[in-house]
Formats: sequence, structure tokens, C-alpha cells
Amino acid sequence: MQTHMLINGRLVAGEGPTWTVLDPATGSALAQINEATEAQVDSAVRAADKAFSDWSQTSPRDRSLALLALADSIEQHGEELAGLESQNCGKPLAAALNDEIPAIVDVFRFFAGAARCLGGSAAGEYLPGHTSMVRRDPLGVVASIAPWNYPLMMLAWKIAPALAAGNSVVLKPSELTPLTALRLGELAQDILPAGVLNILFGRGQTVGTPLVTHPRVRMVSLTGSIPTGAHIISATADSVKRMHMELGGKAPVIVFDDADLDAAIEGIRTFGFYNAGQDCTAACRLYVQEGIYERFVERLGQAVASIKPGLQKDADTELGPLISALHRDKVAGIVQRAIAQPHIRLVTGGKSLPGDGFFFEPTVLADAQQDDEIVRQEVFGPVVSVTRFSDEAQALAWANDSEYGLASSVWTRDSGRAHRFAARLQYGCTWVNTHFMLVSEMPHGGQKHSGYGKDMSMYGLEDYTCVRHVMFKH
Ligand code: NAD
Repeated sequence: MQTHMLINGRLVAGEGPTWTVLDPATGSALAQINEATEAQVDSAVRAADKAFSDWSQTSPRDRSLALLALADSIEQHGEELAGLESQNCGKPLAAALNDEIPAIVDVFRFFAGAARCLGGSAAGEYLPGHTSMVRRDPLGVVASIAPWNYPLMMLAWKIAPALAAGNSVVLKPSELTPLTALRLGELAQDILPAGVLNILFGRGQTVGTPLVTHPRVRMVSLTGSIPTGAHIISATADSVKRMHMELGGKAPVIVFDDADLDAAIEGIRTFGFYNAGQDCTAACRLYVQEGIYERFVERLGQAVASIKPGLQKDADTELGPLISALHRDKVAGIVQRAIAQPHIRLVTGGKSLPGDGFFFEPTVLADAQQDDEIVRQEVFGPVVSVTRFSDEAQALAWANDSEYGLASSVWTRDSGRAHRFAARLQYGCTWVNTHFMLVSEMPHGGQKHSGYGKDMSMYGLEDYTCVRHVMFKH
């Protein structure tokens, strides 16, 4: 198992305290890894800063070729990387191998192409005797901080656009799930020039803080919790760094009486519980119209009760564990507080599963009200709430009455209504009659407390550049 960090093109052991990485399905140790020291964080940022001057001047074609080589390497090592990811996150191996690896490879290939299509928006004589042009140039060293839910995919979303645009990167994966990032560092060692990509290991406080506050870091890109995002924004305010924040969500799912009920039930069974619900777009906050409400709750309960928890390699496993005992206990606490409310109905699930792994039962809570914690707070677990609504106006008001603004969906056969909702929902994404589907060409990102900045798409690439005006006097 590769447990060394990548600093300035060399694989080096951390020289800080030791941290134990666990398999959340069994609670057993997978690896003991030493964190980076502050001096190693400084070395990584300085290496990235030095590498930036050459890397930023490479042609888009050369950067594109490097990203294509990384994509090929990930594809060639797909089984190994999927195995590591599945062991370290507890997720079903089939999902890591068949869903995530192809999507990760595609992100690198998309940005390899996009690198060659980035252009300024104007070139002309806006003042007589002068020619102006707009350039999009890289920013410098980007500090990327990734979460534990999709470690390699979040790494791809961060490093592919940053490198494509000509920046250098220092990435810190979550201390809970570093194994695929560390292995990718080894694969990248032969592909990228020294210092262009650096991978550190360690916790937020010990390694994340010195990284994001480093004076030579020009941009911070985080996917994580709202408190971490707010903390980083304030901790770096003095140095006025560019920020890119993807901070979770609590997606409303609005199901009207005229929806295709089979498709909605199947969609929520899949998209509410994929990755054990540890997904910032999870279909978790359901609003169901009164005409179908009771039938919907009964059928959803049956569908969710049939979701099969299990170990990573078992072919029929649909639901893995939560990432840690701490997180499982947090999920259990929110569910227990919900069940303790007299008006809330526990339809299925509701408790942790026995054993050494961190499993939680797939859970449906019905009759939740708009002000309940279960409706307002992100759970980040296999738990959905269902709230009854009467008409469009009420559904729209409740859906938008949230501090989150990442993803939403509407289920209806009425295309006019679907358009009205798509226009008025305050979320970075609205799906109609589906949920969760992402493609490399389309932007992903939030508004309100869910953050700002886009992952994937040309907008994602532009986020890692600054717009510059160059003027020539004739
Ligand atoms: P977190 O925000 O604590 O961690 C995310 C990343 O930020 C990790 O790499 C962590 O080490 C790093 N970090 C933490 N403090 C930091 C600091 N002061 N400076 C720099 N980096 C720092 O999130 P978590 O503890 O992993 O999960 C807690 C909650 O965050 C979850 O329950 C969920 O609500 C949310 N979350 C959202 C996503 C998402 O995809 N939007 C992913 C993971 C977690």
C-alpha cells in the first residue's frame, strides 16, 4: 500500500504524528500513516510555486497530453484504485469500479480537451489606435482540500481543471480516506513535472490550516462542511485568496400527484441511498403532494426496507457503512431526535446495525414538518424525510426555505409546472423526473451556504483562471 506523500516529484513519508486509517465496514485498521509537518507543507507549497513558472508557460496541448496520460493511467489501474477506494470508504466495490472510475477518467479527459479551448471573450479596437484583448491566465498555487465521500472523484474535480488551466496544486485528501490520493500521487510522479502536483496527508487543523493560510497559495478549493468552509474563508481573509467552496446540501425532492410513481420511488431508493446517503446532492428532503402521500410513503418504505447492506466485495451489497463511528453516531442522534417528536412516523430503519462496522439502517421518516431538524439539517446518511404538501406555492416556498442551495428535483408529468419550478428553485441544479445525474460538460456547484464556484464544465475551468485585459497602443 502506497502511504508516502508526493512533494516536489518525490515520494516522502510524513514526519508528523501517526494516524490510523480504517476500513469502515469492519472498523479494522488498514494503514498507519504519518502526517505532514508544517515544514513539509511549506516544502510542498514552495515546490508548487517554483513549478508554476514553467507549467503555466506550457502549451495547452502539452497540458492536455499530460492530463490524457493521467486519465489513461487511472483507467489502467482502475481495479486497484477501485479496490482501495472501496476498502477505505466502505462503498460497494462494484459502485467504485463501474460508476466512479469511468466518471473520474472522463473528468480528466474532458479537462484535457477543455484546456485547448479556453479563450478570452474579446479582441478589438475599443479605443481608437489601441487593440485590446482578454486573456484567461492561471492563478498560481492552488490548495485543494477534499472530503471523504468520493475521495478520488473529488480529487479529479479539483486537480484536473486547476492543472488544465496552468496552475500548480497542493492537494490534501481527507485524513479518513487518503489511500487513492496517495496512490495517484505515485502514478502522477512519472507523468507530471516535479512540483506541479503535490499530495499531502494529515488532518484539517494540523495540515489543512498551514496549507490554506500559506502566503504563496493563491486559491483555496474546498469540498467539505459549511463550518470548515466558513473557517477557511475567515482564516485566509487577510491574504485575499481566491475561494472555491462546495459545502454540502439538503436537496428538496418535490413529487406531485401526477408524477410517475414507480419512477419516483425507484429514483429515491437509488439516489437517496447511493453511497449510504453520504452525498451532497442526495435525494433526502422529500415533499410529496397530498393526493398520493399515503400510497407513496407506504411504497417508499417497502422499497427502502429492501436495500441490502453488506461488505464491499459482496455482489449483492447495495449499502455500505458510514465513514466513521463518530459520523454514524451523529446520524443516529439526528434520527433519534426526529423519532422522539410525536408527529414523526418511523416507516423503516432508524438505528445502527450491530457489529464492528459503522452501518446504519436505510431509514424513512414520514410526516416531518418544515421546521423539524430532520428537514433543515444535512444528515449525510441513509435517511430521508417525507413532508406532505398541498399545492405548488407551498411546495416551492418550503423547498426554497433552506440555507442550502446545491441540488433539487421535481417529479411531475406537467411540463409547464416543471419549467416553472426549474426557473424558481434556488439551487445550483434542478433535475426533472430524475435526480443525481452529473456529466463532465455541465457545471456542479451551489448557492447560499452550499458555497460558490463550479466543478466540472468550462465554468469549472474558468474558475481556476483570472481574466486579464492586455492593451496595445498602435
Ligand atoms: P470537513 O469539512 O471537516 O472536512 C472536509 C475536508 O476539510 C477534510 O479534508 C478535512 O481534513 C479538511 N479540513 C477540516 N478542517 C480544516 C481546516 N481548518 N483547514 C483546512 N482544511 C480543513 O468535513 P467532514 O468532517 O469530513 O464531514 C463533516 C460534514 O461535512 C459531513 O457530515 C457533511 O455534512 C459535510 N460534507 C460534505 C461533503 C460534500 O461533498 N459537500 C463532503 C464531505 C462532508
